[in-house]
Amino acid sequence: MTHQSDVRVRKIQAAVLRKRGGPLKIESLEMEEPHDDEVLVRIVATGICHTDIDFCDDWDEADTPVVLGHEGAGAVERVGKSVKRVRPGDHVVLSYQSCGHCHQCRSGHPTGCDHLYEANFGFSRLDGSNALQRSGVRGHFFGQSSFATHALATERNLVVVPKDLNLELLAPLGCGLQTGAGTVINSLKIKGGASIAIFGTGAVGIAAVMAARIVGACPIIGVDIHQMRLELALESGATHVINNRHDDVASRIADITGRGVDYVVETTASPKMHELAINVLNPHGTVALLTGESGTDALPEGRKTLGIIAGDAVPQRFIPKLIALYQAGQFPFDRLVKFYDFSEINQAIADAKAGDTIKPVLRMSGVQDC
Ligand SMILES: [Zn+2]
Ligand SMILES: [Zn+2]
Repeated sequence: MTHQSDVRVRKIQAAVLRKRGGPLKIESLEMEEPHDDEVLVRIVATGICHTDIDFCDDWDEADTPVVLGHEGAGAVERVGKSVKRVRPGDHVVLSYQSCGHCHQCRSGHPTGCDHLYEANFGFSRLDGSNALQRSGVRGHFFGQSSFATHALATERNLVVVPKDLNLELLAPLGCGLQTGAGTVINSLKIKGGASIAIFGTGAVGIAAVMAARIVGACPIIGVDIHQMRLELALESGATHVINNRHDDVASRIADITGRGVDYVVETTASPKMHELAINVLNPHGTVALLTGESGTDALPEGRKTLGIIAGDAVPQRFIPKLIALYQAGQFPFDRLVKFYDFSEINQAIADAKAGDTIKPVLRMSGVQDC
């Protein structure tokens, strides 16, 4: 047994949530060095995802303060004894965590992991320990807590990427972009000529638009209330856009397709949009719910809704695929990204909430190591 005094720790800087709705405060914390199966990553950049923002707004102040962030990218600094495939110096993109032991993980479906909730939202390692315990803060969000200068990950939730690529830009591939593109390519397996509407053209929705163009879907209809996001959807492959603040979505879709659509990707989590998605669906069509809801097939004429997690993606396979598509000019996600310094984290969150920034990415370069 290891006595606490034997545990080696390092100082890190991290954005701590102590107050519901924020602001997040950058503090100096003590983090344990990696366990045998862990990888210490010096974070270079991290995306901000709506799950971080929702968590911040819903957080209960009676709980222990936490470090959020789950779209980290960085360089490996140290690896634990049993880590095999990653070495210090490797560049990595971090993604969601899974247990690696359950039937789903062993059969290559980590998005179905029996311990998915604890591994990503438990704010501890799966053995219950917490590397930030000495500072009275909880980490391990999505197996990373990347709103920090350093994060502990495992081989299961990191992907080694080529060193000649801009690591700062790659950060958001680990969650939002993987989810949107994976839904179209892996979960729905949409074929050329199928019609699709994408409700909500934020980062996840636009990744779905780009993927729909890649697989040859047509028409590709983007729906949102922000004009700027709709324009970006058009640049990203949408054949039509509908501003549902001004237009009636169902009748516009009927005008465009002559009937309904074969697929709807619903990212808004609004009950009204959920209902609308079913109403505009063709017989045998599918609504993909990227909202945490589970699906049902008890709808008339073979229609169904499908709850989808992380685009059914195995990060080590899918993220390299997205990088190759980006390099081929087919997945130009760089146009969604706006960079901020780590110290501007609260402004970045405010801009994302207002719809002014689609994908904020925080750069750690200006942060003093201590
Ligand atoms: Zn598992
Ligand atoms: Zn996310």
